[in-house]
Amino acid sequence: MLQLIDVFTYYDDLAALRGISLEVRAGEMATLIGANGAGKTTTLKTICGLLRPRRGRIVFSGRDITGWRPEDIVRLGIALVPEGRRVFPQLTVWENLVLGATVRRDRAGVQRDLEQIFTHFPPLAERRKQLAGTLSGGEQQMLAIGRALMARPKLLLLDEPSMGLAPMVVEQIFAVIESINRAGTTILLVEQNADLALHIAHRGFVMETGRIVRSAPAAELLASEEVRRAHRIVWVRALRAY
Ligand code: ATP
Repeated sequence: MLQLIDVFTYYDDLAALRGISLEVRAGEMATLIGANGAGKTTTLKTICGLLRPRRGRIVFSGRDITGWRPEDIVRLGIALVPEGRRVFPQLTVWENLVLGATVRRDRAGVQRDLEQIFTHFPPLAERRKQLAGTLSGGEQQMLAIGRALMARPKLLLLDEPSMGLAPMVVEQIFAVIESINRAGTTILLVEQNADLALHIAHRGFVMETGRIVRSAPAAELLASEEVRRAHRIVWVRALRAY
């Protein structure tokens, strides 16, 4: 469904992506794991057109979408749930969700999908008239996912959905992500919590300083002593930094 072929993305002179190639198949849940600054967010932003690659190609459902505008990419079926949720705080839950559907013209379908999202996330249904800025972190994450789903994506990109959330809330959010995937939406999940991500994904890509250094079935990565060790080292390093 999605192919990145030798993609390079720069911030001025800094090469944040240095020849990324990866493939996500229709129906699967793939995860991109790696330390801070490895280039995970840059990869997602490049896929959805927020950053333009300097070299390489991005192919989605057989079409070359390299250099397309973000709104055209959304229309074609890719939606991003950004890092830090980015909901509109001064708008209500309902208004945030409706905004997610601006690329659509089928009013009846939008109404049906709103109800579907309220079924996925009961706390949002109870709070549909509440301002998004007054929601808890977990509820805002549900809203950000719901807003992306309102575009009816074929491919959903999720950037660090567990960030800053209590373990119980993370569990709830990840259960919903799994059920969205089971219902047919292909997912590319970016996570720093490698253990968690590899437990729900089918396949994983390990990123280091702008490159994919390993790609394998998630179970294989989970069992790999090398990956486990690498991620613990990352964690210890992060602690030492404080
Ligand atoms: P994190 O988990 O911390 O979000 P990441 O793997 O998502 O990390 P990116 O945010 O993609 O990593 O960053 C990749 C590299 O690009 C880093 O070296 C980062 O400092 C740099 N970078 C990211 N955004 C910008 C920007 N707007 N301007 C300049 N450099 C940037």
